[in-house]
Amino acid sequence: KEFAEISLRDIDDIAKSSFPMCMRHLFEKLREEHHLKHGGRMQLGLFLKGVGLKLDDALAFWKAEFSRKVGAERFDKEYSYSIRHNYGREGKRTDYTPYSCQKIISSTPGVGDHHGCPYRHFSEENLTAALSRMGVNSRAVGDVMNKVRNKHYQLACTLTFEAVHGSSCDSGINHPNQYFSDSQIIMKS
Ligand code: SF4
Repeated sequence: KEFAEISLRDIDDIAKSSFPMCMRHLFEKLREEHHLKHGGRMQLGLFLKGVGLKLDDALAFWKAEFSRKVGAERFDKEYSYSIRHNYGREGKRTDYTPYSCQKIISSTPGVGDHHGCPYRHFSEENLTAALSRMGVNSRAVGDVMNKVRNKHYQLACTLTFEAVHGSSCDSGINHPNQYFSDSQIIMKS
């Protein structure tokens, strides 16, 4: 499903209402630390492209944060290339596809990385706290944690989606961009 472009003005609200936890986490860390390591830049950057953030807005978005950490000049020199690259404007000009849940779940984030799937890569304590911050009630948190203990990460994400939106998600979650578009359908209906 295609959605109209998302604008930078709305992006914080949209992140809160419609991003899956993996992307919400990256988004919040970027806003907090004004930096993300390579794996996080790829995972979030391609997701944002998938939700309809245009290249110019993507550059402005990343630059606003990174400039506060490394300065605008270094951003232009070291980081803007890979953003244009993700949009197929550099190198082989491949139009790169946003990562699926399977790819994110099987990634191996190291120290200081914020990419990956929280259901797979967070500690129980951090995951429980993140679920409460998303407004998931304690009974639903228990159900989500059961799925996690059985290593059913995408089912855990599906239950979170259902708890947050108060609406069922029969197809299950298999892609962060699907989580987003299913969420937007509910939010806009
Ligand atoms: Fe993201 Fe998929 Fe994990 Fe949900 S199951 S948090 S959409 S990677």
